[in-house]
Amino acid sequence: MCPQEFHNAYQQYVEGGWPGIRMSPEFGGQGLPGLVSVAVEEMIQSANLAWSLCPMLSWGAIHAIESHGSDELKAIFLEQMISGAWTGTMNLTEPQAGSDLSVVRSQAVPDGDIYRVSGQKIFITWGDQDITENIVHLVLARTPDAPAGIKGMSLFLVPKYLINADGSIGERNAVTTVSVEHKLGIHGSPTCVLDFQNSAGYLLGELGFRHGLHVHDDEQCAAGCRVGGRCGIGARLSAGTGICDRQSAGVVYPGGM
Ligand SMILES: Cc1cc2nc3c(=O)[nH]c(=O)nc-3n(C[C@H](O)[C@H](O)[C@H](O)COP(=O)(O)OP(=O)(O)OC[C@H]3O[C@@H](n4cnc5c(N)ncnc54)[C@H](O)[C@@H]3O)c2cc1C
Repeated sequence: MCPQEFHNAYQQYVEGGWPGIRMSPEFGGQGLPGLVSVAVEEMIQSANLAWSLCPMLSWGAIHAIESHGSDELKAIFLEQMISGAWTGTMNLTEPQAGSDLSVVRSQAVPDGDIYRVSGQKIFITWGDQDITENIVHLVLARTPDAPAGIKGMSLFLVPKYLINADGSIGERNAVTTVSVEHKLGIHGSPTCVLDFQNSAGYLLGELGFRHGLHVHDDEQCAAGCRVGGRCGIGARLSAGTGICDRQSAGVVYPGGM
C-alpha cells in the first residue's frame, strides 16, 4: 500500500531512535525537552510533509497515553509506540461532526473490563498502512448514558490488532478501512475512512472530553510546526532563487547569500 521509499525512510527513522525523542525514558524514550523535539519535527516536516504526518499523529497518541493511560495500558502500548514498532492515530471526525464535535455519534458500550466501540470516522490521517505491524487508534465516542453534547464524549484506545497476554500481536480487531480519502494535496499520506463495529476498546483516562482535547491540542501544536517547516522551505527556496538572481546580475555576496 505505501511506497517502498516510505518503508525505507520509516526504518531509518526507527533505527535512529527518533520516535522517542521527547518521550518518557521509563518506556524507552529519550526524555529530551519538547523544544528539542519541535526542532526535529520541523525538519522532518520540511523534508516530506506526507510522510511526516505518520510520526506526528503517533506523537500525539503517545503523549495522550503517557498523560492519561492506566499503568496497564502504558505497559502494553507505550514501549512499542515509542520504539516506533507501532503507530498511533486520532479519530475525532465523523461525516456529520467536523468542527462541531458535540454531534459525534460513535458509541462505546461497556463490556466487562473493556468497551465495544462502534461508528464511522472520516479523514483519519495514516488511519491504515502496511509499514508497522499494529496501529493504535484513539477514538472519540460516547457511552450510552453519557450526557448530550461535548461533555458526553470520552476517548478510547482501539488497537488494529488485539494484544495477547504475553504482549505479542493477537487477533485482528473489528476495525475496517472503508476507503482512502480523495483530497487535493498531500497524496502520499493515507487519509482513511475507518469503520468500528463492536471493536474492543479501552477507556483512556476518565469518562469526559478533557482527553479528547489533549490529543487534538497536540495535533494543533504539530500543525504549527508544519507551518514552520513549510515556511522554512519557502525561505530556503527563495534564498536560493535570490542567489541565482543576484549572480545572474553579476552581484557577488560574501558567504553565498
Ligand atoms: C488532510 C486531512 C487530514 C485530517 N486528519 C484527521 C485526523 O487524523 N483525525 C480526525 O479526527 N480528523 C482529521 N481531519 C478532519 C479535520 O479535523 C476536519 O476537516 C475539521 O475538523 C473540519 O471539519 P469539516 O471538514 O467537517 O469542516 P466543517 O466543520 O464543515 O467546516 C467548514 C467550514 O466552516 C467553518 N465553520 C464551521 N463551524 C463554524 C462555526 N460555528 N462558526 C464559523 N465558522 C464555522 C470552518 O472553519 C470551515 O471553514 C483531517 C482533515 C483533513 C483535510
